Amino acid sequence: MSRTVYVNGDYLPEDEAKVSIFDRSFLMADGVYEVTSVLEGKLIDFDGHLARLERSLAELDMQKPEAFDDLLDIHRELVRRNDLVDGMIYLQVSRGSAGDRDFVFPDPEEVKPTLVLFTQSKPGLADSPAAKTGIKIISIEDIRWGRRDIKTVQLLYPSMGKMMAKKAGCDDAWMVKDGFVTEGTSNNAYIVKNGKIITRHLSNDILHGITRAAVLRFAREAQMEVEERSFTLDEAKEADEGFVTSASAFVLPVVEIDGTTLGDGKPGPVARRLREIYLDESLKSAI
Ligand code: PLP
Repeated sequence: MSRTVYVNGDYLPEDEAKVSIFDRSFLMADGVYEVTSVLEGKLIDFDGHLARLERSLAELDMQKPEAFDDLLDIHRELVRRNDLVDGMIYLQVSRGSAGDRDFVFPDPEEVKPTLVLFTQSKPGLADSPAAKTGIKIISIEDIRWGRRDIKTVQLLYPSMGKMMAKKAGCDDAWMVKDGFVTEGTSNNAYIVKNGKIITRHLSNDILHGITRAAVLRFAREAQMEVEERSFTLDEAKEADEGFVTSASAFVLPVVEIDGTTLGDGKPGPVARRLREIYLDESLKSAI
């Protein structure tokens, strides 16, 4: 079944939606994005994603699309038109198309940003088998640019990281800079030692995960101990458990790093509990 997607003000069948070949996201990766989960037809953590989008745009001096204030309605309309129950909504804003290729940013008075949204249906998104078994990860060097806090569409290296993991018979990769874990290819990384949850502090080195913020809030509310600091790969391999968080995977246990088993090789109690709390609480506040 063909999806209905949104492009610059229009709802269209996916095969009729068009963006210029001169669009700067296509030529220069000059675009930012957000992914919002949908569970039971409702948007999870929408306000957080919208706030981060606004920040990404500001950091890159990119105009807000005209429809910025209507984004909640557009998300809901896409859910409605596509009968989306469980899945995701992908949103991308680029600096638009000046009708040619040029490194210099176009005049924002003349070139408007491109806004694209589409749905991805994932029935049973919250019941993923990986949540029951846990995932295996490899470590790779973090060679991305220095502004990982901005959610840009430059996803080639994370994509290569996933392929390297797949080739190694694993599920994902954690990236390491100067011996310290930054984050996963598309998620934030955590370890648990003696009951304490440890995750890298916020800086330009990692994406400020919306799920991360919610999970850390819920953990503190549940009287769990949280420490936001860098941790080494060696420390991770000696941890009792590990896990990752992202909008589409929620909380996913990690059971192996570079062939080293964490704990008893099964999802740990802290990750399992946080997943349960996150799914419960975020569904309650879903809109
Ligand atoms: N880190 C990276 C590099 C990501 O790409 C993502 C999500 O795509 C995350 C962390 C998790 O962010 P969020 O919880 O907002 O989905």
